[in-house]
Amino acid sequence: MLGIFERLAAHFGPLHWWPSDSPFEVAVGAILTQNTNWKNVEKAIANLKQAVALCPSGIKALAREELEELIRPSGFFRQKAERLQLFVDYLFTNHQGSLERLLAGPLDDVRQKLLALKGIGPETADSILLYGGHQPSFVVDAYTRRLLSRLEILHGKESYEQIRALFMDQLPHEPEMFNEFHALIVEECKTFCRKKPLCPSCPLVDMCPFATQSG
Ligand code: SF4
Repeated sequence: MLGIFERLAAHFGPLHWWPSDSPFEVAVGAILTQNTNWKNVEKAIANLKQAVALCPSGIKALAREELEELIRPSGFFRQKAERLQLFVDYLFTNHQGSLERLLAGPLDDVRQKLLALKGIGPETADSILLYGGHQPSFVVDAYTRRLLSRLEILHGKESYEQIRALFMDQLPHEPEMFNEFHALIVEECKTFCRKKPLCPSCPLVDMCPFATQSG
């Protein structure tokens, strides 16, 4: 894992991901990005900012229909509005309306609390923990699965938790590194390891069984 990280870091340089003004904005983005692309999320977040509603009390003050309208560009807006309001209700009931208070707890404890909430799966929970809470929780996504499968580190049936454990077990638990590694995997998969891969130019070509087999 470390070798892959170093190779990608040398090729792409520092990426510094997930720009946001607050941990809450990260959490909202992590919920809204489910089943859509980031451009659509940006439009929804811009709407929330314009309505001065990108904070727990702002979301809480909105009627469901108002929230749905503001986040409509992110798709599945009814489902996502419900998830956001349940998330905010949870914060007010248990953490005085503060995401920072929730995220200040021990990693495994906070992760379990997030996973218990409706509509928050492991990728969303880990994104909130890593990018919002600065906690060392590796984020696994479809790009991670594709890249590791082609490198034959995965064999196809591994669960989210098994893939996450590969990173958690083999790397130092440093949020900056987990942040950067995930960003590098996404960049690698958008640039080279696409659905139709561009193996000859890929920085991992000499360590990749897929390239050898298909080349
Ligand atoms: S060599 Fe090809 S298949 Fe292997 S990681 Fe690079 S782009 Fe993907």
